[in-house]
Amino acid sequence: MANAVILQTFEWEMGAEGDFYKHLARMAPALARRGFDAVWLPPASKATSVNDVGYGIYDLYDLGEFDQKGQIRTKYGTKEELLDAIKALQDQGIKVNMDVVINHKAGADYTETFLAQPVQMDNRNEPAGEERDIDGWTGFNFPGRQDKYSDFHWNFNHFTGVDFDQKTGEKGIFRILGDNKNWAEGVSHENGNFDYLMFADINHQHPDVQKDLYRWVDWMVNETSCDGLRFDALKHIDSAFIKDYTQYLTDKYGDKLYLFGEFWSPGLDRMSTFLESTSFNLDLFDVDLHFNFCQAATDPNFDLRQVFDQSLVQNFPMNTVTFVDNHDTQPGQSLESFVDRSFKERAYALILLRKDGYPCVFAGDYFGIHGGPAPQEGMTDELERLLELRASYAYGEERDFFVDPHFIAWARLGDETFPFQLATVISSAGDGAVELDFGPIHAGKIFRDYTGRIEDIITLDENGKASFPVQGQSLSCWVSPDARDQESLDKDYKKFLENLDRPKLEI
Ligand code: CA
Repeated sequence: MANAVILQTFEWEMGAEGDFYKHLARMAPALARRGFDAVWLPPASKATSVNDVGYGIYDLYDLGEFDQKGQIRTKYGTKEELLDAIKALQDQGIKVNMDVVINHKAGADYTETFLAQPVQMDNRNEPAGEERDIDGWTGFNFPGRQDKYSDFHWNFNHFTGVDFDQKTGEKGIFRILGDNKNWAEGVSHENGNFDYLMFADINHQHPDVQKDLYRWVDWMVNETSCDGLRFDALKHIDSAFIKDYTQYLTDKYGDKLYLFGEFWSPGLDRMSTFLESTSFNLDLFDVDLHFNFCQAATDPNFDLRQVFDQSLVQNFPMNTVTFVDNHDTQPGQSLESFVDRSFKERAYALILLRKDGYPCVFAGDYFGIHGGPAPQEGMTDELERLLELRASYAYGEERDFFVDPHFIAWARLGDETFPFQLATVISSAGDGAVELDFGPIHAGKIFRDYTGRIEDIITLDENGKASFPVQGQSLSCWVSPDARDQESLDKDYKKFLENLDRPKLEI
């Protein structure tokens, strides 16, 4: 089976012209040719305005269909365009994962008066003032939708907290009071209790809320015919709810629906506890590996042999989506921790050319970031080379040669379908080389550097060993396309490049 890879199709600074879905539909054949077998779409539901990336979610059931929040469309287009894009992607064999934002709701239709307790920002279990009546934005009746798909209207009983008192104009965190009402227990314990993230925080204990969220997720899966769901902000949602919710989805849809999520709590123990407490129903992004990449990029003393230490992919390879960066880690965003450009190609090799993990490529790295505090060009050439290597050469047994703090390498031995060998060598210091052992069965095979950086030909000795060079602060990917010569390899690569019509996500 060919290697799988996801594309995160969006970054934070993309334009709000509303033509995203149309571009995506047009790009579908080009994305398939690059080896993407899946995409992750931005939140599709109506948010606070067309400029909202989608995480300020207003109406789960409005995918750009109703005149709400000033427009029918979302930032990305209309519902019809969304469904067309999904079909265009699926027609190319690309699976579509939708973003699920169910921690909070924003842009309420009206305020309500209720009893609340201000709490401390850095310890939400501690009061920051007297209990009192506040006017909070918690009333949702979706006048533009008029109860189509669901007649559920939200009120303050369906939320645990808000961040604004309209009566006094005071900002803060206000815990909504009521019988047996408190922050959810199964959440991150940062800030005492991290149930509250932003806007009106959904109370997942409330039976009416549960009923509507179950109804909605079925509606979403059926309405969009999507192939998977990516859960946002998991550390802020009661894990008991997530366990039941994902169990319901697993029982109902089985392998037809891929589930994964963002649990942004670095620390293997926290990640593994969450995986266990949700019965391994969903995979998680490898946050610790991302932070290892950040460190490797900036710390000249970083020991590359430890780049996978404490990572999810090393400990739970079957439950891991690996990534380098995303819309939250990009400059200016809430979890800003961008892997420095100088290391990025090496970081992508460490997720794309390895056996374990389901890698996710970030649009901001691929197509570039076109706004905000730190615009950047896309790494199109580097990433396409790695994607081609992943698609054609990164198969079979993996042998690690993590020999030096600044030089690591690994071999892929190929399999029956893809009977080629690949040697990836990475340097975080100067020029160097690493000896790799492919085994005597591969004796005499010749390798060339697919990155084009080094022109040598490397030949394995009678034991199947050779020393593979790498330039300083760089990587080389040595392939043995069996008995073929450099000319045919060059031709393959040129043909591959010609086959790509350069993607235009005009953002
Ligand atoms: Ca919450």
